[in-house]
Amino acid sequence: MPIDYFDKVWHNGQYISWKEATVHVAAHALHYGTSLFEGIRCYATPRGPAIFRLKEHAERLVNSCKIYRVALAYSQAQLEEAMVDLIRANQAEHAYIRPIIFRGYGEMGVNPLNNPVEIYLLAWRWGKYLGEAALQQGVDVCVSSWQRLAPNTLPTMAKAAANYMNAQLVKMEALANGYTEGIALDASGHVSEGSGENIFVVWHGQMRTPPLSSSVLPGITRNSVITLARELGHTVIEEAIPREMLYIADEVFFTGTAAEITPIRSVDHITVGEGKPGPVTRKLQERFLSIVRGQAEDKYGWLTVCV
Ligand code: PMP
Repeated sequence: MPIDYFDKVWHNGQYISWKEATVHVAAHALHYGTSLFEGIRCYATPRGPAIFRLKEHAERLVNSCKIYRVALAYSQAQLEEAMVDLIRANQAEHAYIRPIIFRGYGEMGVNPLNNPVEIYLLAWRWGKYLGEAALQQGVDVCVSSWQRLAPNTLPTMAKAAANYMNAQLVKMEALANGYTEGIALDASGHVSEGSGENIFVVWHGQMRTPPLSSSVLPGITRNSVITLARELGHTVIEEAIPREMLYIADEVFFTGTAAEITPIRSVDHITVGEGKPGPVTRKLQERFLSIVRGQAEDKYGWLTVCV
């Protein structure tokens, strides 16, 4: 599907058009993967377009840069302001925002440090990442034969483009075998995450999600769902999940900025629960969507209205 983009792109503090937003083929990022990014949703609300958890996304972006020793000429607060301005400048009602920071054109060779740091903020309209029916009916997924990044290889607390080579292997294998998404296990064989989503299990009345030590991205939707689940009276446990728990769980679902809260109805052709979104998943979807759409009170201060 072509990108339904907003034309104004922020580059190192100035607006350029989408067509002008190009890089040289010798850019360091293209050769060595030197790129950190975010994915952020801005929802249409009765108060105007509102960015969901802008601060936490900007913080994760700044931390991804810190891990990779990328010095930024902009503070976290300045990047937050720039993203609000991007929504205003494009007069977007809703959007998916993609800040990307990478090492550009300069020198060749593995050492990134002598290459310029380029910051771009892009936005486009993005519908339902795993398909229109996914949120309502759930998706069929598999456990991947590819493992998630092992500790001490690539740090998964950074949202780095290079991590998505692994994610692409997981995704392509799943699609080739007729599944919507794949779930990777971590290096110890426990459940880690989907190619672009965290995962939750409801089992014996308790919710579980893999801990950060299971090579997962510290998902902001994951964090929001833990908060909402506890608010609704559920116990949420962050501990290693054995693969087979996916098969015998009452409910399994993905969380992510793009995927929001997507129910999983089968894993490896084994039906999860009743093969349809369960009551806990439904309730969390409802609560999450009512907050992000500005229909319920923003009691945690998660929305930044851009008017
Ligand atoms: N894991 C991976 C690998 C992802 O790409 C994403 C999407 N950013 C997530 C988890 C979910 O994170 P978030 O809820 O912050 O979007």
